[in-house]
Order: sequence, then C-alpha cells, then structure tokens
Amino acid sequence: MISDVVVVGAGIVGCAIARALAGTQLSVTLVEARNDVGDGTSKANTALLHTGFDATPGTLESRLVARGYDMLGEYAEQTGIPVERTGAMLVAWTEEESDALPVLMVKAERNGYHRCGIVRTEEIYRRVPDLGPGALAGLDVPGESIICTWTTNLALATDAVARGVRLLRGARVTGVVTGTGHSTLRTTRGDVQGRWVINAAGLGADHLDAAFGHDRFTVTPRRGELLVFDKFTRPMVPLIVLAVPSSRGKGVLLSPTIYGNVMVGPTSENVEDRTATGTSEHGFEFLLSKGRALMPALFDEEITSTYAGLRAAIDHDDYLIDLDLAQRYVLVGGIRSTGLTAGMAIAEYVTGLLAEAGVDVTERAELPAPPRMPNLGEAGMRPYQDGERIADDPEYGRIVCFCERVSAGEIRDACNSPIPPADLDGLRRRTRVMNGRCQGFYCGAHAQVLLQSGTDR
Ligand SMILES: Cc1cc2nc3c(=O)[nH]c(=O)nc-3n(C[C@H](O)[C@H](O)[C@H](O)COP(=O)(O)OP(=O)(O)OC[C@H]3O[C@@H](n4cnc5c(N)ncnc54)[C@H](O)[C@@H]3O)c2cc1C
Repeated sequence: MISDVVVVGAGIVGCAIARALAGTQLSVTLVEARNDVGDGTSKANTALLHTGFDATPGTLESRLVARGYDMLGEYAEQTGIPVERTGAMLVAWTEEESDALPVLMVKAERNGYHRCGIVRTEEIYRRVPDLGPGALAGLDVPGESIICTWTTNLALATDAVARGVRLLRGARVTGVVTGTGHSTLRTTRGDVQGRWVINAAGLGADHLDAAFGHDRFTVTPRRGELLVFDKFTRPMVPLIVLAVPSSRGKGVLLSPTIYGNVMVGPTSENVEDRTATGTSEHGFEFLLSKGRALMPALFDEEITSTYAGLRAAIDHDDYLIDLDLAQRYVLVGGIRSTGLTAGMAIAEYVTGLLAEAGVDVTERAELPAPPRMPNLGEAGMRPYQDGERIADDPEYGRIVCFCERVSAGEIRDACNSPIPPADLDGLRRRTRVMNGRCQGFYCGAHAQVLLQSGTDR
C-alpha cells in the first residue's frame, strides 16, 4: 500500500501535520520510532502558549508562533485541552535590564503583538507579592498562557486517527530509497511507502534529511532542566515570571503549571547525546541559585520532581522548512523552543507548500468532530469532583492516585481510547497518575495492574 503522504515523527509538529493533511483527500501514514505519540521533546517542555512577543521579527518562526497561538487557543476550546490565560510579567532586576524593556516593547509591536505595557515596581509586587526583593520594572505580557503539552499532542494524534491516518508506533525509519513515483522508508516495522514524505523527526530530523541525500544542518540537542514544586506553592506564582532575555538566551522563568504546581527553569546546555533527558547535579544547583534570587520563599517549600527536555537546536536562526519537489520531500527542522505553540501553524504552512507544489489539498466535506479530551487541568472540573458522573459510573469515584486524585474510571478510559498508552509513562501523560508528591510510590503498582488489565482486554 502506498500512502499519498508519510509523516515521520509523532510529536506535536508531526501530529499537527498528519491531522491537517488528513482533512483533505490525501491518505496519510504517521510513523513514530517510539511506542507512543508525544514521547519526544513534546512531552518535556515549559508548556507555555507563547504570544511570540519576543520572537525575532521578520522570521518564519515569528509568523508561525503568532498564528499558532490563535489556532491552538481555538482548538483547545474545541477539544478541552486545558489552557489558563495567566499572563506573564517580564521582570528587570538591573538598570541595564530596565533600559531593555522599551526595546522589547518595540520588538513585540514589530511581531504584531500590541498588548505589552511597562509597569512599575509597585505593580509587580502587587501582582506577585512573593517575588524576591530588587525588581525595578516590568513588562506586562497579558496574552502569555499555560497549556497542557501532553493533551495537545494526544488531541492532535487522536484527531488525525479519527480522520483516517494510519498510525505506526514503534517504527523507526532506518533508511530511505527514493524512486520515481514514491519513496520507500525502511522502518523497524517493515517498509512504508509514500508519494510524499514529510520529515518532522525533531532531534532525528538531520539524520533523516541526510538519508534523502542532503547535507544542510546538524541538530545539537539543547537540554533544558526544570524543577517542579508542590501544589501548596501555586498561589505564590499567579502568573508567568519571565527574565529579560540576554545573548545567553531567555533565562530562567517561574511559572504556574496547568496541574496546579509551580515550575522553575529551564536551563540551556548543549549536549551531544540525543537521549540525554536525565537531570544533572549542576543543572539542579544552577536552578536553585537562580530560583532563590527570584523567589526565596518558594525554596522553603518542597520540590516534587525534576525533569529535562531536549530542544532540537540547529545552526540556523529560524525554522528550517523546505520542500524538495524532485524528491517530493518536505523538511520541517529546527523547531527548537516554540513548537508546542506553533505546531498547528506549521501544519498549515506545510499544507500551503504542498498546494504550491501542485498537490490537491482541498478540505474534505464531513470531517469528524474534533475529539473531546479528558480534562487534566486543575482549573476545570476533574471527574472525582463530579458527583453526577460518579453516580452514573462509580469508577470515577474510585481513586487510584491520591496525590493527583486520578480515578480508576479515567485509567480505564485511557486504556480504551483510540491511542492507548504503551506503558506507565504514557498512562501518566493521559491521566496525571503517579505525577504527584509521591511520584507513584503509593499508586505505581496499582496503576501498573490497571494498565495491564486495561490494555490486555
Ligand atoms: C526545555 C524546553 C522548553 C520548551 N518550552 C516550550 C514552550 O514553553 N512553548 C512552546 O511552544 N515550545 C516549547 N518548547 C519547544 C517544543 O517542546 C518543541 O518545539 C516541540 O515539542 C517540537 O515538537 P516536534 O514534533 O518537532 O518534536 P518531537 O516532539 O521531538 O517529535 C519528533 C518525533 O520524531 C520521532 N523520530 C525521530 N527520529 C525518527 C525516526 N528515524 N523514525 C521515526 N520517528 C522518529 C521521535 O521519536 C519523536 O517522537 C520547549 C522545549 C524544551 C526542550
């Protein structure tokens, strides 16, 4: 069987592309090396829905982040992806940083974002009373928001499958044979053929690009480590606290999470190993010292967990999206630190490139409705709080994970969903089970049994 399009990589970007193209007459196969969708960079980021106020004006990234912000915001409403419109405050701690605020405001305007405003010290402390001493001025960015990256990836993948995408998990592409009418991808689950191939392989995009005969970029994994604080701290951080960007990057931020925690990070460190998602002692120490200066009182509270993600950084200051007509191949590379926000807009852009290349991408009539996703957010009602639902189905009242209040009903639903979890980590991303203070110490074994029996059925 030859698909019209094969998309490689089931992160947010690949799933968004597969979903968009499956809304046309094209047949689409989505190939993922890992056993689950959203198990790469898309599972471990800072989970901000960016306005793009601080992007480099004039870049493709600036354009697609702004567009993606609107598209994902709207899609989140349709599908129930949790979003909280917290806003952000970018804080200046030195005179030099204060002087940079008007420059950043002009930059935001050039990026088409017109809602920034400079605020005085008193306003900063009125809005974030627990902030450490010494803040001089701030830039208010009311549109910055927090979102659930796990549900975003899963919603896009579920929608793609509902639209007819053939999803192959555990299928790593190991080689490519290009032909006249189609390409053959050698995968660990056998050959997959497509008239067009779209490379959305994230950290592996340069290797796949090389298999198509190109030599144009190298991915350097840029590790970002983060600390997650216990839920008691959430009232201390009512909005996202950003640093003034410098030549060394965007700096360390404080952010509430959609699950009711607080997060501090990320670090920014180039590493060689594309699988180095472990946290490090030096990363931990760095975040302790930076975070303590930002909000000393926060560090009197407990850190629940730490994690790290790898940005697919490349030696190019913008997204690298390019269509090769002769090979019917599209590279979607360098989606470094904004792909969660921009994913749907990248999909729209790629669809446009295909249209320019003569592919019929007319939208199909009668598409299935977008999926309604389980709510993992603390701001909305969770099943354990819903008396009527529990009366209808007592499994939603049978708590398995007490830290995160996850019920047996939610675990059962995840196991019966169109894309069931392959392991406990996948179950965690679908339900929040084992994600709390005890990190699965109490519920891990029970969750494993439920996962086993749920997926064996
Ligand atoms: C610390 C950190 C903080 C971030 N914060 C934010 C943020 O706040 N907001 C935001 O918008 N973005 C943020 N990002 C960026 C965002 O997470 C990424 O841009 C986005 O997840 C990239 O998605 P992707 O689909 O391109 O890559 P991935 O999610 O990595 O997906 C690529 C997939 O391709 C698969 N693959 C690779 N090689 C092969 C192969 N040979 N065969 C088959 N499959 C293959 C991989 O297994 C993987 O699943 C952050 C990133 C990091 C690391």
